[in-house]
Amino acid sequence: MERILASQTPEYIEKEVTIKGWVNANRSHGPIVFADIRDRSGLVQVVFMDELGSKANELKPEYVVEITGTVQSRSERYFNEKLISGKVEIAASNLTILNTAQTTPFPIDTDGHDIDEDLRLKYRYLDLRRERLQKHIKNRSKVTQFVRNWLVGKDFTEIETPILTKSTPEGARDFLVPSRLQKGEFYALPQSPQQYKQMLMVAGFERYFQLARCFRDEDPRADRAYAEFTQIDMEMSFVTQEDILKLTETMFTELVETLFPEKHILKKPWPRIPYYQAMEKYGNDKPDIRENTDDPNELAFAWVVDFPLFAPQSSDDFFHGSGKAKFAPSHHMFTAPHPDDIGLLETDPLKARGLQHDMVLNGHEVGGGSIRIHDAKIQEKIFELIGFTPEQMKEFEHMLTAFSYGVPPHGGVAPGLDRFLYTLFGETSLREVMAFPTQASGKTSVMDAPSVVTDEQLKELGISVTKKSSTDNV
Ligand code: ASP
Repeated sequence: MERILASQTPEYIEKEVTIKGWVNANRSHGPIVFADIRDRSGLVQVVFMDELGSKANELKPEYVVEITGTVQSRSERYFNEKLISGKVEIAASNLTILNTAQTTPFPIDTDGHDIDEDLRLKYRYLDLRRERLQKHIKNRSKVTQFVRNWLVGKDFTEIETPILTKSTPEGARDFLVPSRLQKGEFYALPQSPQQYKQMLMVAGFERYFQLARCFRDEDPRADRAYAEFTQIDMEMSFVTQEDILKLTETMFTELVETLFPEKHILKKPWPRIPYYQAMEKYGNDKPDIRENTDDPNELAFAWVVDFPLFAPQSSDDFFHGSGKAKFAPSHHMFTAPHPDDIGLLETDPLKARGLQHDMVLNGHEVGGGSIRIHDAKIQEKIFELIGFTPEQMKEFEHMLTAFSYGVPPHGGVAPGLDRFLYTLFGETSLREVMAFPTQASGKTSVMDAPSVVTDEQLKELGISVTKKSSTDNV
């Protein structure tokens, strides 16, 4: 018999059905056994009686089962309003145990926030069974689907860019991958597809997007994932900053109103707050402008604009400057200066504003972007101000070369998908909205990478490793 889902059972009253799923819980009352069976749609209660009752007594939580039976209405006093199938139950006529299961290392019928996170991530496939995470991951899929359809509807092209690439300066440390064919040389995993997306504008696509995986070797924080995260990366040609802000704002507003109608956006259009005003009024550049911070459904979006183009360079910056220059880009080195402030690049660079925009939601920076430099001379001037040596300049020669073949004015933005969802769901950490996040310690979920590799692998790569001594971890 064809399988139906738990959520479909109310449509099958008095009919025989087959369901398949996991035992969520079971209770026996003598010869009668009740079991809640869970599948991807939710739970349904099954009643086993007589001989089947004794077989059902073997069931334990998380056993995988196939059950055939007749759907019956429950009497009103047994309605369970919490379940979609709470007005029915299945009187079982057959039970097949498809697989047994060990006792899980932690409960999965709670929200899980109080369980040690490393343990949860070690058994992430079990942790993901909990309702809260099922909901987050499914909502994440709805959001990415919405974004794809919406952007394609606006004539954007989805384009994948390489993962094995060269350092892209976003201000963090790179993850490096050794090359076997060119021994002693390394790829870098992209901190963002920044240079590729700009070259796609040179290539004439005009409107690009990608759900881009980005890699940054930064210390983790609650609002920052370690190692990898996803951006809704966009780039457009022949646009003003206003065009980028309007398009992004419209997409997110429609997304929230369509998928999460219980949420309400505090201000439409989103306020535009100049950087200095944000610093003066709120003391930071990601102001929380919510009226009621206790309301989980309030969403206060804002744009922060008019950032200074440069910040004073500090010695721990990872920008590729020589360390002698006084300036580090506040956003990245491809951000265009405000047209009114070009002269300041010569006289007082720290006073120059950049055409940068940060998207802020409930006091979290969700993403950033800018109008890019499309004039090779200005790009060279910026390289000079951030202290590039001629060799460092050479690393970006491909950009200057590309720009010499007719680059359109262009700009973009990259809202962080994990950041947005984490804020939207009011979660405690970005990891709660990712299926298999890396632990704060840098270990991956379940698979326990990074790990030691064989001597042969190292030899092939031309790498010798200073072996960890037994005291290294102490
Ligand atoms: N690449 C930038 C970032 O990752 C975003 C952008 O400028 O579009 O922050």
